[in-house]
Amino acid sequence: MSGSGHVGRFAPSPTGRLHVGSLLAAVASFCDARHHSGEWLVRMEDLDPPREVAGAADDILRTLEGFGFEWDRDVWFQSTRDEVYRAALADLTSGGFCYPCGCSRKDWSEHAVYPGTCRDGLAAGVEGRMQRFRLEEEAMGWHDEFLGEQSFQAGTLGDFPLLRADGYWAYQLAVVVDDRSQEVTHVIRGADLLDSTPRQMRVWEALSKVADPIPCARYGHLPILTNAAGQKLSKQTLARPVEVAEACVLVDAVWGWLGQDQSEAWMASMASGDSRAMLTEGCRIWNRNRVPAGSIQLQGWGQDERPA
Ligand SMILES: [Zn+2]
Repeated sequence: MSGSGHVGRFAPSPTGRLHVGSLLAAVASFCDARHHSGEWLVRMEDLDPPREVAGAADDILRTLEGFGFEWDRDVWFQSTRDEVYRAALADLTSGGFCYPCGCSRKDWSEHAVYPGTCRDGLAAGVEGRMQRFRLEEEAMGWHDEFLGEQSFQAGTLGDFPLLRADGYWAYQLAVVVDDRSQEVTHVIRGADLLDSTPRQMRVWEALSKVADPIPCARYGHLPILTNAAGQKLSKQTLARPVEVAEACVLVDAVWGWLGQDQSEAWMASMASGDSRAMLTEGCRIWNRNRVPAGSIQLQGWGQDERPA
């Protein structure tokens, strides 16, 4: 696609149809990557079969196409990458970055985060149920592409699972392994994932020590869309799916929520009903500095209501 070296991605979970919250992340990550002459990848995060909906992955891809998005390379499905995650876990284990934990959630229910019970080894007679990443106690921070300086204390996060007790790979491991494999340089996503970022940066750095050294991605967190009750739009809050027939009005709404300007070409493309041309123009005029912080409460967009 280009020699800029910039690689962005959009990574939906096929737990339902695309809604405006996920559309916002798609538009922002797409325009940010293309504005910087970069590649834009699509990856299906289908690692949690109990939450997935049959046909949702195909539906999301068809919807993205219908809106006029074009992605580079083949779409990756995390469900096909078990061996790669297993190898990464082995690397992390050999480097001492993770440990088996035999606790169930009720064993540490009095704590806000996992208190590290099994850090120094399992108690006699206890079997490991999962693998946890060892988060060293030191300040963590990054310069967010939209939010500026961010900092976290490891103690407020706790050691987190890489392999879950139910046998599924944890999101935090799979995302980092895939971002590294695809040499993603810019992770642009919703601010609901803000506290995943320090975890993922640590896993990334650990893997760079025990496997291929790959420069850590930069991260940018987008405003969260909420319904009239202040809940994040999601399948759980019955966010209304986006329809290709309404692509122009939806892309224009998302563009406004991202704080972006409408150029004359943007308005002309919208008037002619061409959402693909709107996105192409959006890639040209995208301005990171205009993306607002915080959440955006939508009236009349949350569920079962049509855009005005
Ligand atoms: Zn434990």
